[in-house]
Amino acid sequence: MRSRCWSKLVLFVAVGGAVAPRAWADGETPPGRDPKQPVDEAYTEKIRKYTTKPYFSSPLVDYLPASKNVPTPQAVLGDVAGAPGILPYAEDVYRYMRLLEKASPRVKVFSIGKTEEGREMIAVAVSSEENLKNLEENRARLGKLGDPRSIKLDDAEADKLVAEAVPVYYITGTIHSPETGAPTALMELAYRLAVDESPYIKEIRDGTVTLITPVVEVDGRDRMVDLYKWHLAHAKQFYPWLVYWGKYVAHDNNRDAMGVTLKLTENVLNTYVGWKAQVLHDLHESVPYLYDNTIGDEPYNAWIDPILADEWQVIGWNNVSAMTKFGMPGVFAHGDFDTWSPGYLMFIAALHNGISRLYETFGNGGADTEERTLQPEEYARTWYRQNPPLPKVLWSQRDNNNYEETGLLTSLHFFTENKQRFLKNFYLKAKRSTTKPSEEGPAAYVLPGDDPRPGLQAELLQVLEKQAVEISRAKSAFTVTLPAKKPKEPGKGKDRKEEKSEAPARTTREFPAGSYIIRMDQPYSRIADALLDRQYWSPDDPQKTPYDDTGWTFGELFGVQVTRLTDIKVLDVPMDRVTGIRAPGGVKGQGTVFAINNSAEPALATLRYKLHDASIEAAEEPFESAGKKFNRGSYIVRNTSRADLDRAAAELGVEVTALGAPPGVKTHPVRAARIVLVHTWLSTQTEGWWRLALDKLGIPYDYRSTQAIAKIPDLNAKYDVILFPPVGYNAGVNAVVNGIPTAWGNPLPWKNTPETPNLVGKNDSTDDLRPGLGWDGVAHLQEFVERGGVLLTAMDTSSLALSLGFADGIGTQNASKMKIVGSVVGTRLVDEASPIAYGYEEKGAAYCDNGPIFSLSSIAGQRGRRRLGPEVRARPTGRGSLDDPDFAVGRPGVEVPEERKSETWESPPVLDEQKRNGFRVIPPSLRPRVIFRYADSKDLLVSGLVEGGDEIAQRPAVVDAPSGKGHVVLFSINPVYRGETWGSYAMVLNTILNFDSLNAGRKDPSE
Ligand SMILES: [Zn+2]
Repeated sequence: MRSRCWSKLVLFVAVGGAVAPRAWADGETPPGRDPKQPVDEAYTEKIRKYTTKPYFSSPLVDYLPASKNVPTPQAVLGDVAGAPGILPYAEDVYRYMRLLEKASPRVKVFSIGKTEEGREMIAVAVSSEENLKNLEENRARLGKLGDPRSIKLDDAEADKLVAEAVPVYYITGTIHSPETGAPTALMELAYRLAVDESPYIKEIRDGTVTLITPVVEVDGRDRMVDLYKWHLAHAKQFYPWLVYWGKYVAHDNNRDAMGVTLKLTENVLNTYVGWKAQVLHDLHESVPYLYDNTIGDEPYNAWIDPILADEWQVIGWNNVSAMTKFGMPGVFAHGDFDTWSPGYLMFIAALHNGISRLYETFGNGGADTEERTLQPEEYARTWYRQNPPLPKVLWSQRDNNNYEETGLLTSLHFFTENKQRFLKNFYLKAKRSTTKPSEEGPAAYVLPGDDPRPGLQAELLQVLEKQAVEISRAKSAFTVTLPAKKPKEPGKGKDRKEEKSEAPARTTREFPAGSYIIRMDQPYSRIADALLDRQYWSPDDPQKTPYDDTGWTFGELFGVQVTRLTDIKVLDVPMDRVTGIRAPGGVKGQGTVFAINNSAEPALATLRYKLHDASIEAAEEPFESAGKKFNRGSYIVRNTSRADLDRAAAELGVEVTALGAPPGVKTHPVRAARIVLVHTWLSTQTEGWWRLALDKLGIPYDYRSTQAIAKIPDLNAKYDVILFPPVGYNAGVNAVVNGIPTAWGNPLPWKNTPETPNLVGKNDSTDDLRPGLGWDGVAHLQEFVERGGVLLTAMDTSSLALSLGFADGIGTQNASKMKIVGSVVGTRLVDEASPIAYGYEEKGAAYCDNGPIFSLSSIAGQRGRRRLGPEVRARPTGRGSLDDPDFAVGRPGVEVPEERKSETWESPPVLDEQKRNGFRVIPPSLRPRVIFRYADSKDLLVSGLVEGGDEIAQRPAVVDAPSGKGHVVLFSINPVYRGETWGSYAMVLNTILNFDSLNAGRKDPSE
């Protein structure tokens, strides 16, 4: 809500500016203006007016120095930075930065790339004229410090460079679009750094290059400004929530620093690495009033250099100290953020030898001045927050800007004062990354040259390339020693003597020529190590609420082989540096029928859609031909020219074998199904990762909201497959079907209008965000499946489909003790003949975030039984021993009917008693078919946190439930997530391409 209670504002008495606070020690430069430099009186007066309490400001920002030729932010904003009612679009922010560049030799603007929707991203360098003139020489110096191999790890040479180099401090704003304050704060910050002649600011300007990307999520910023303008124009109404930020994801844009799938991540990463920057400081707004969360809480990421952990403390505590001395309340470090996951944007610095930093300040989600009431835990005094925020305040965007700028300026100043220390650390961290093989290990990671999934292997290597990791390729085969396996427990089923003779022996492994080697003796070894290694989050960790995912091992999630090697000899293998890695592809051999082995590589689906006129069949059994083995599900391609196929296959990295004759195995068509991807208006983020994956693979789909689905009576006429990816936030039937209540309030439109020109972009629109799928929509979905369509759901939409009764014979349970928090878990293939499983091996891994826990039943309407606690099938007390039958005195003994056993993932056998008038017994051909299950309890944890895993161990992970003439395919895992789960994409793609043959290979129990 908007409030303009300016009369209530307390205008504080001018501090006078010239007075240097006494809190600063001898030798320290006190913050505050230079009395000789004139102040922009009008601007300064506005700052005071818009600051709601004097203590929400500081001597660094309570005035604005005047300049004769450099325009203040007012030139573009029409008012001061942080003024109520004013949120600039990104292009306005850029226009101002370019005005600064034109007016001052101390400012340079660089274009750093485009967003998904084609908007520009910039980085603004502010420093002394001399520093900006010598950027290239300085970059060369920083480059040498950043790659100590270039100076032969010579510390004395490094010290010389440290003495001469100017460090780069990179600040990024507004990655999270509803956190709106950073752009105006950064406009004013750039002005101050360029114009202010106070010793404090001058030291920063002369000593450091401040690099600023004022808007990271540019597409989202423009949408947010549209929404805010809508709100200003409809002051008495509720306003729509920001349902899209960027094209694909919302808040998760700050979880992409591992996969680097979004343009904003790539552009910031390239800028950070290209500038050889020392700090990446990302600005957020969700906590009162300034939380330096970089220090956060345990557990810290295990792969960062401990030097960095110390830098976090040093800079963070200095920040808290300086702002506490200014008397600004609510400035603190520590708190509830753990620093485990490396997915945050700031972590680009943490794992590229820099310093990651992050502020949470307090934003109003717009530029209204509002009364804000805090929760007790927010204003409580704690050991790390002795001067906590106030329980209730009038808060303005200007207050927020004051905190952001004051924090940044004190941070920049402390960093500059200690720049030699931080530059030396930058060198040391790079050096320690380079000496990693001998100092700490591992020596390298190897991705074998004969991996059955060269396409997925190339995808993983491309992520490492984006991360600026050096990749090499072995020129010949090589053998390395693997560490000895731990000795087994003595005496387990084996003669002790025998065990002695097989004392822990080292093993060797040979890798073929062409294997990829990720050497750990390179400056950016740590990011590769962090992505490729395994993670273990202890269930006993005192941190009980992990901030984000706990596991992410890329080899497992991409379904490719990655071997961690400690044998340092691997570094002596003859190898070449390689870039632009792509899987080989094209047609080989002679013949008119073409075969493509199926190894669950997503590129096969791309090929199917690309060659729309070709006839493609899937082999329902494995076969051998032309001296090659082909897996079940391999493609048999006909009716296409060899040239077309060769071109497409080469482009996609798919190997095709021409055969003299088609193999004599049963086949069915692989069709380019017509897909619709359904989204709610509640949240579009989790499904956004699915859109991104489909777009990247070039698989066409329609994109429709639940509201639109409700208006399409015959879905089968338009679509073969409906993808309903997770909604997020465990949205249940009420939220998805009913949406947001419409009994009160006003419609919340999401569409382009003259006042909101940027809202829709290439996404979807509606007159009112509130209505959900509705019961008509539910009926349409159900009819779609009944008539032969395939509905694919995952996680919460799987629970939704079951709650709505779309599939029978599957129950879901809520976890009681289980905690699997964004972890990599083991999976096992149950039904290799199902088309959904084509190309997969018996053992696999997938991303799981607490379920849901499926259980199967052959009885309609019955919840599957849950098996917890000890088995109660032991024989009762009686005669004989454990394996003997009991007896009853006075009557003949009877044979106990043998109980048919079933596995945890299967439906329990139908009991004779249940077959009596068994109208609820689901006929065998209509029972759900388990394709993948979770691994056994002991194999469930691959990476991350798995606590109480017994509840989901061995449970179905992917189930194909026949329903009418169609299918509901339910995932408990999330197969498409954050561009990190390439290995499980084919489970979805197989479902799509075999939509009308999902029953292939089905074996029904005879009953
Ligand atoms: Zn944020």
